[in-house]
Amino acid sequence: EKVTGTALVTGGNRGIGLEVCRQLGRLGMRVLLTARDIAEGAKATAALHAEGLDVVFEPLNVTSPESLDKLVDRLERQGTRLAALVNNAGIAMDGFDANVAERTVAVNFLGPLHVTERLLPLLEEHARVVMVSSGVGELEGLSPALRQRFDPPPPKAELVALVQSFVEDVRDGQYAQKGWPGSAYRVSKVGLNALTRLLAGELKPRHLLVNSVCPGWVKTRMGGERAPKGVEEGADTIVWAATLPPEGPSGGFFRNRRSIPW
Ligand code: NDP
Repeated sequence: EKVTGTALVTGGNRGIGLEVCRQLGRLGMRVLLTARDIAEGAKATAALHAEGLDVVFEPLNVTSPESLDKLVDRLERQGTRLAALVNNAGIAMDGFDANVAERTVAVNFLGPLHVTERLLPLLEEHARVVMVSSGVGELEGLSPALRQRFDPPPPKAELVALVQSFVEDVRDGQYAQKGWPGSAYRVSKVGLNALTRLLAGELKPRHLLVNSVCPGWVKTRMGGERAPKGVEEGADTIVWAATLPPEGPSGGFFRNRRSIPW
């Protein structure tokens, strides 16, 4: 069946994000494909155009407040309203030091936080927000003491401070004593999942549906060649969560269209 409305996808130029744009377009949505690299974004958009889809390119670097301001400005002037927002952009860097921790948190956690907060006024009633997360963000990977600090999630300012304290603890060489895992990617997705639960509660009065999705292990630049899933399969649950009916679930974590534990 046809789905109407406009969807915005971050990191839409390649990998899972590009395939999410394609599948949302095929369902009948108008898609705002965003990317931080203008040439790459334009190229991906042209490819989807050639497939007959209604896709428009918008530049967006999720770690740049200026880039986000400009996007919001353009969308406001055009009177754009969003039926779906897919926070897909993400990085998994090699190595582990304070720089890696800071950059990973900036893209994977603060990125979705800032993008979602700034686009909130443009979201339609019943709009869906999807956080592309990962099973490695399961709470099980944390020490019991830390786990308690994420579950249930603290208020937003406290959550941000908690995730930022991880970066500081890496910088000070204290992260292991403080119970953090030695993976910035993992911590960024734990934080993202906590954010999903917070936003789902906060936005319930507006009937917005906010969910986290684990795409599984997918063949992309990040996932590598050995991954068992192709992008078609990897995008499926994300697209499902981005097109949920108004009475659909909110505040959940899904893989293969099924609920999985935090
Ligand atoms: P890719 O590395 O193929 O793509 C990542 C995308 O994010 C690219 O479009 C990249 O843009 C974009 N991006 C990175 N930083 C920024 C930024 N600052 N602003 C805007 N866009 C940015 O990865 P995948 O497609 O595999 O990953 C997509 C999502 O799925 C991520 O959130 C990832 O964590 C998640 N995921 C992936 C898994 C897998 O197995 N592949 C498993 C579990 C989760 P650019 O081309 O400019 O670098």
